[in-house]
Amino acid sequence: PIYLDNHATTPMDPKVLEAMMPYFLDSFGNAASRNHSFGWVAEEAVEHARKQLADVIGANSKEIVFTSGATESNNLAIKGVAEMYAQKGNHIITAATEHKAILDTCKRLEKHGARVTYLPVQTNGLVDLDQLREAITDKTILVSIMYGNNEIGTIQDIQAIGKICKEKGVLFHTDATQAVGKIPVNVISDNIDLLSFTAHKMYGPKGVGALYVRRKSPRVQLTAQMDGGGHERGMRSGTLNVPGIVGFGAAAAICKDVMVEESARHAFLRDKLKDVLMAELDETYINGTMEHRLPHNLNISFAYVEGESLLMGINDIAVSSGSACTSATLEPSYVLKALGAGDDLAHSSIRFGIGRFTTEEEVDYTAAKVIDVVRKLRELSPLYDM
Ligand code: PLP
Repeated sequence: PIYLDNHATTPMDPKVLEAMMPYFLDSFGNAASRNHSFGWVAEEAVEHARKQLADVIGANSKEIVFTSGATESNNLAIKGVAEMYAQKGNHIITAATEHKAILDTCKRLEKHGARVTYLPVQTNGLVDLDQLREAITDKTILVSIMYGNNEIGTIQDIQAIGKICKEKGVLFHTDATQAVGKIPVNVISDNIDLLSFTAHKMYGPKGVGALYVRRKSPRVQLTAQMDGGGHERGMRSGTLNVPGIVGFGAAAAICKDVMVEESARHAFLRDKLKDVLMAELDETYINGTMEHRLPHNLNISFAYVEGESLLMGINDIAVSSGSACTSATLEPSYVLKALGAGDDLAHSSIRFGIGRFTTEEEVDYTAAKVIDVVRKLRELSPLYDM
């Protein structure tokens, strides 16, 4: 089978596994053990990885807090700020197209008295900056807008959003899970105060992530959401996952090295897939702007075709559909609906995610197969007018 679902997760890079191996058996120490060399070796490995992660986002090592993944980082950022800055205000601003780890965290806080503004997006998937500016009040403590969208790959104008937040004196968090390692991200030039990312979307292991927490002007403070031994400068207790962290660091270092070349290759393959599909199939629509987009993302709606049937027809190719087959209700993607897509087009969408190990032959095969299956399904559709 062909894997084109690299937004869901990426395979590990074999070099990452190689870097992790010694920390399972020989160097198994607890990074918090200060009294012997087993602990020192583990701690040194963790600090090396911390530097590698800081380097990929333009941060300082001391600003990296290790977590179990981006879900936890998002929870820690939003709940941690809400609790720490409760005296200042209770208003949070986010967007309708965020990941559930943001939306459901906000919903939870609403139950405890927070007020949350869910900004709509324009048909291209981008937040309207004037609307953002107008939504900020003297009670606003946090703006959380994702960097690159996990379904449609849209890249928000993070630098401009960061600037608005800085001018208004409001903290800015971004879920950069899909962006880090794929496109240049810099917390200083983008005015980011908090940033979530995770290893398994950048060819690292699952179950390890990080939260960047700015230390200077302004110094961001968080209330810990996990109490215990006071690891990670009190912000996240729990024995560190040393092999996972080593893998995360190695994955970030590789991404930084290959980013320019890799993103160009991904964009080439993605555009080839798009061009062939659009040339051969009519009534086919791209979701989200192509202009500000992650290089490895393509999201297309094939009118008159049900996403689930298309997935079944191309079952040797792993992709995702905007038709949420995991939910009992068969709700179409809320991200596509936020762009203004009707239920039919949202149901008929496919997300393609190119990755490090995707070959041109796989892309060519995928294009041919999708074209064939869409044509066959449309022949059966009473609504499609040939
Ligand atoms: N945020 C975004 C944008 C994602 O795409 C994902 C992955 O599904 C997550 C958060 C959750 O990341 P993790 O699996 O590391 O908890």
